[in-house]
Amino acid sequence: MTRPRAEIVVDLAAIRHNVRTLRRTAGVPVMVVVKADGYGHGMAQVAAAARAAGAEWLGAATLDEALALRAAGDTGRVLCWLTVPGEDYAAALAADLDVTAYSVAELDEIAAAASDSDSGSATGPRPARVQLKVDTGLSRGGASERDWEGLFARARAGEEAGRWRVTGVWSHLACSDDPDHPANDAQEATFRRALEAAERAGLRPEVRHLANSAATLLRPSSRFDLVRCGIASYGLDPAPGETDDIGLVPAMTVRARLALVKAIAAGDAVSYGHTWTADRPTTVGLVPAGYGEGVPRQAGNVASVAVGGRRRPIRGRVCMDQVVVDLDGDPVEAGDEVVLFGPGRDGEPTAQDWAQWCDTISYEIVTRIGGRLTRSHVDSEAPA
Ligand SMILES: *Cc1c(COP(=O)(O)O)cnc(C)c1O
Repeated sequence: MTRPRAEIVVDLAAIRHNVRTLRRTAGVPVMVVVKADGYGHGMAQVAAAARAAGAEWLGAATLDEALALRAAGDTGRVLCWLTVPGEDYAAALAADLDVTAYSVAELDEIAAAASDSDSGSATGPRPARVQLKVDTGLSRGGASERDWEGLFARARAGEEAGRWRVTGVWSHLACSDDPDHPANDAQEATFRRALEAAERAGLRPEVRHLANSAATLLRPSSRFDLVRCGIASYGLDPAPGETDDIGLVPAMTVRARLALVKAIAAGDAVSYGHTWTADRPTTVGLVPAGYGEGVPRQAGNVASVAVGGRRRPIRGRVCMDQVVVDLDGDPVEAGDEVVLFGPGRDGEPTAQDWAQWCDTISYEIVTRIGGRLTRSHVDSEAPA
């Protein structure tokens, strides 16, 4: 088969390696977060690789994502945490998911779904599994401290009525990539208060969890019973400049084949708006991927790609379908491989490099890349 014009290749061996490394480092069970199509890596494939490496839990944002994991054949513990009123909790309970409630109103919705799904059961109801999310200072999802008592009391009453089991109490950090930020200590202390309040209410959650990837690596006291690792599972550094190198391997490579190579003269300007002008005769290569593939438009004149073992700067603006790179007269031909980013082992840029160039985080680079790119999965550890 001929190589695609432009593609994403995901190495599932890297995912397994990263998950094993994180489990060893954390010393507690790991939830691999696979939301947003596995941060652009392919949710179902990442989920299977994560399980093969021992992931005890998978985490999804939406109910749809969690249901898609079941449809893909995953049978392990799955938590989801982002729903709107009227969502299909009956489907969630039938699929044996752990769902998250932020409020008494959400518990009421889950209760209604639980009693609906009980009616046909010969063996009696299977209690739903509910986790409670508390807001410890992110001011995003979760119950605010003033509402904890009411939420926990209602959750305990539902347990006593056999409606559900409260399987977890959890929260999320705002500044974990900045380990010296005072919010980390404050949030952890607030979380401990929430756990005490839950205990006073009679709740005995199976898992208490607070840490994302950065906290897993940088803040051992935040690991509790379970850590939720997204970005690090994909081999990207959650806190560049703060973490020790634990040998994570970026799983995603984005590559293309040059559509055209041609000479331009000194004084020729390149791409829309003529934002770059050659100061010498050179050759340029046309890379057939642009912002339609999720290549950030901010990368114009700042990012580089690898061609023929060398970094090649993008000249001019990123277009919808293509970008132009400077080949400096080197013997490179149409059809040759261009690596936009990858693990970085052969000198190619990484997603973290692109994040720096584009003033964002690697999460956004890998999650947004896609569009017309094809995506395939390989296993570099599989016998040839
Ligand atoms: C996305 C997400 C995570 C994973 O965060 P990383 O920084 O990618 O490890 C963990 N917990 C919650 C609630 C999330 O939304």
